[in-house]
Amino acid sequence: MFYCTFQECPTGLVDEDAFKQIFSQFFPQGDATQYAHYVFNTFKHNHHGQISFEDFLGALSTVSRGTTQEKLQWIFGLYDVNHDGLITKAEMLDVVTAIYEMLGRYTEPQVEDSSAKDHVEKIFHLIDKNKDGAITIDELAAWMSRDATVVESLGMMDTVLYTSSESRARPSLSQP
Ligand code: CA
Repeated sequence: MFYCTFQECPTGLVDEDAFKQIFSQFFPQGDATQYAHYVFNTFKHNHHGQISFEDFLGALSTVSRGTTQEKLQWIFGLYDVNHDGLITKAEMLDVVTAIYEMLGRYTEPQVEDSSAKDHVEKIFHLIDKNKDGAITIDELAAWMSRDATVVESLGMMDTVLYTSSESRARPSLSQP
């Protein structure tokens, strides 16, 4: 009840714990905690570590209906966990692992872990054209322009938040 969670908060602000609960409701079969942390990390926080409903809706609309450039920037920010302008293999593995955890563990943990690792190994080298072990936003842009479908698979938030916006957030947008 992502909409209610925001509405029940008198200031219209949500902290990381509330944000994690929102994600958990959409992925009850898995553990969305870590992925929610990375998504939360992409938002501007106030000094209490809270984000506003407006910022949240802004990101939502960027991810679901933004231009390719806007989606690129959002996805890059999601994977560039420490915000230094580069995505390392470790960062990518952390985020991909979080996505696997969110989707649920249908296999033994060790199989799960190695498949996330294999996935990252394969993708990372495709994107890291100059083989320096870090992905720049230009390398990500070049890769995304070669295969537009990866934008969707990399983002995941598209699915999560588009669903939530359709079912719950949309009514609040039409209010004057
Ligand atoms: Ca980084």
